[in-house]
Amino acid sequence: MEDTLQITINKTLQSRVQNLDYNNIQFAREYSDHMLVTDFKGGEWENPEIIPYGNLSLSPANPAIHYGQSIFEGLKAYKHANGKISIFRPKANYNRMNVSAKRMVMPHIPEEIFMDGLTELLRLDQKWVPDVDGTSLYIRPFLFATDEFIGVRPSQDYKFMIITTPVGAYYSKPVKVKVETHYTRAVKGGTGYAKTAGNYAASLYPAMLAQKDGYDQLIWTDGQNHELIEESGTMNIMFILNDALVTAPTGDTILDGITRDSVLTLAKDWGMKVEERPLSVKEMVEGLESGALKEAFGVGTAATIAHIEVIASDGIDYKLDESGRVFSQKMLKALTDIRLGLAEDKFGWNYYI
Ligand SMILES: *Cc1c(COP(=O)(O)O)cnc(C)c1O
Repeated sequence: MEDTLQITINKTLQSRVQNLDYNNIQFAREYSDHMLVTDFKGGEWENPEIIPYGNLSLSPANPAIHYGQSIFEGLKAYKHANGKISIFRPKANYNRMNVSAKRMVMPHIPEEIFMDGLTELLRLDQKWVPDVDGTSLYIRPFLFATDEFIGVRPSQDYKFMIITTPVGAYYSKPVKVKVETHYTRAVKGGTGYAKTAGNYAASLYPAMLAQKDGYDQLIWTDGQNHELIEESGTMNIMFILNDALVTAPTGDTILDGITRDSVLTLAKDWGMKVEERPLSVKEMVEGLESGALKEAFGVGTAATIAHIEVIASDGIDYKLDESGRVFSQKMLKALTDIRLGLAEDKFGWNYYI
């Protein structure tokens, strides 16, 4: 199959791109003209098709709906001042998607389908990549079960798809977060390290409770004792504590974020002290009280860097001063400049289409 991959392209007759208001782009309100679709049937991948974006027809006995055999990825494409379009570290997303697939007993996605499919789709829909400050094209690859069977077992057939959507800022201002000590996002031996649908469904209720109390997101703690800091919402979380960059080590309860890796790589390159180690809520609160903890921020593709202005723990709101955001501001600018081709791409992160 490797050397016979053919992507069939069926173009839309009516592009919708002229309706896109580039100066007023919100998060994922409109979807680009085309989508990539490939079926895995009878143990084999069929050749991918690019077709006009639209609804799917599925069996009501689809196991992804009933039991959540479904995984996804999230990455972004940027338009440079010279008109070139680059995708940020897509092979890292490709690799991680197959890690998720393995955990959910889903078939390995061939690199050609993912990478060539992505490239062709973006070439076709390049007008959808916005170029206004702070905007990008969010790319959502996903894989889900398609058998018509409601028995609990791994599906035999699957569908792999990619859709894209122009996005602006995910959070328009710094976020308020609350340390969660009752609900759990991920447990040892569970699926926390996989980008699988059910993880996100399970996080909605505790996040909603925090929002009712005026917080934007949660800081997840370990499922056993709720003492160690894991992630924030759907982002990895980092701190500047005693002038070191501190973040939890990856493991089966923590998503191995590509933004996390990019931030750690650049920080090390700058000669900064980087500590990937367990950080307890207690140590964080002590740092907030003493002033040794100067910055806290979430890192992820959707928000890139989300500055945290309030952390609530045990009913106390700890404020983080805006003037302290030295590292996170510098990092945000460095990442943005690399992605837009304004700074040297030392690590070869930009993938040009
Ligand atoms: C996707 C995701 C992240 C961030 O990963 P990136 O590759 O940086 O986008 C972090 N935590 C969770 C739970 C996620 O789903």
